[in-house]
Amino acid sequence: MKNILFDLQENQLSNAVNHSVLYDAFNPSLVSDFLECIDQKITHLLQDKSKHGVHLIQPSNLMNIVKQLTTKDFEHKTPLERFNSIIDLHIRTGIRVNSTGYMARQFSSVVPVAAMYDMVASICPQPASFYECGPLPNVADKIMAEEFSHFLGWEQQDFDMISTSGASLANLTAVTAARNLKFPDILRQGTLVQGSEKPAIAIGADSHFSVSRLAGILGIGQDNIVILPINKKRQICIRKAQQALQQAKAKGLRVFCIIGSAGTTSVGAIDPLKELADLAHQYDAWFHVDAAHSGAFLVSDQLRSKVKDLSYADSFCLDAHKTLFVPAACTLLFYKNAAHSNLSFPSHASYVSETDEISRFESGTKNFECTKRPSILNLWVAWTLYGRTLFEEKLNYLVEITAQAYNYIQSLNDFEVLHAPESNILCFRYVPKGVPDQQLNQLQLKIWNVLRTGGRHFISKVDLDDVTALRIVIMNHEITINDVIDLIINIRKTSNKIIKL
Ligand SMILES: *Cc1c(COP(=O)(O)O)cnc(C)c1O
Repeated sequence: MKNILFDLQENQLSNAVNHSVLYDAFNPSLVSDFLECIDQKITHLLQDKSKHGVHLIQPSNLMNIVKQLTTKDFEHKTPLERFNSIIDLHIRTGIRVNSTGYMARQFSSVVPVAAMYDMVASICPQPASFYECGPLPNVADKIMAEEFSHFLGWEQQDFDMISTSGASLANLTAVTAARNLKFPDILRQGTLVQGSEKPAIAIGADSHFSVSRLAGILGIGQDNIVILPINKKRQICIRKAQQALQQAKAKGLRVFCIIGSAGTTSVGAIDPLKELADLAHQYDAWFHVDAAHSGAFLVSDQLRSKVKDLSYADSFCLDAHKTLFVPAACTLLFYKNAAHSNLSFPSHASYVSETDEISRFESGTKNFECTKRPSILNLWVAWTLYGRTLFEEKLNYLVEITAQAYNYIQSLNDFEVLHAPESNILCFRYVPKGVPDQQLNQLQLKIWNVLRTGGRHFISKVDLDDVTALRIVIMNHEITINDVIDLIINIRKTSNKIIKL
């Protein structure tokens, strides 16, 4: 007996020696070397003021580079040396959101301290769904809700706000609540035909794809989406929307949710929210607004009037990881009626307590995710350190510089601007003399593609009905009108090369 015990201990000892990799990986003094490495590289990255666009590497080439890093070639190097190379590769292939050459998408240059807090929350986790494990994010949800209540004129006790990982998930969560409210039997019985009425949703013709996807997920069926036509400014046209809803009703569709946008992805258009709310009321439908992009305007005294009618919505979401400049994904989902936030996922797990004060703070019952990153803390920390002013100043500047870009590009003979900007998104085309109309779409596409390999500018491309356009989204407050002028010059040069080919 004694011998067996002794053998076991011997075994455990030798395991401990074999596991030196394990102990090294968790060794605090070795870990601090890694922190120092990140410190240097991040500081350098933030100090780098040169122009970086995107330098798209072919996936197969990148695969080779990554394979080398992953396998034998690196066996003779220490983990720290390999980490160094990996961080370098990450920065080389990542979006240079802090560069003035980056104007492509809605990813922001993030408030650095918010990203640092994100790392702390990874090492000392506070998973957000359950108060017991994540007290701080659950309290931060309430604190941020209170801060936003002032902008909406909503009373604190009446409404609710939860945070989700992205607007796609927020849209799904809100429309699920709407469906469960208007068709309570579907949740349990799963049948989608309630008598003669088929559940349907109505969305703008320029809605984000996450909104049309949810019809498939919720079993509504993509064919039962009622498309609300848009006007020249690419907002939902109320008159045509009325017609579309009448036709849908005549076909036996019961539109239980109307979804508007505040800041469409393509051009940043904001739908007539008050009129849509009235229309929803008329049809006994829930009114949800996908305000992923422009909902953040609420925090700015200068911009708030554009989105003030969000207060008429039954629910709306905004992406803090886009226009409140915190690491992804952090989305705020607001419900005007606090009781509605419990409707999306009403069957509580047995280990969730329901009675005490803690349950009021428990966000897990209102959220699809179980383990959930506490991203709200990234917003809360930046808000706490710098106040609303930080966000307001940055947003005001981005919108202002986009207006300047609009004025400038509109003054050029060889460019055409497609809309007056409502936000920090602007779509335009290069239309040089001598290129026939029917070749202009192709030209924009080629310019965009060549810019993607050039490494100086990163912009995006968008198709607005039959028109292909170039699109800039100004997310970096260090961009000035001179950077826009520099882009225009690069577009001309690029186009000249293309036309010569
Ligand atoms: C970005 C965006 C979404 C998707 O949001 P995620 O946070 O990326 O899931 C939805 N709607 C609009 C209008 C957007 O701009």
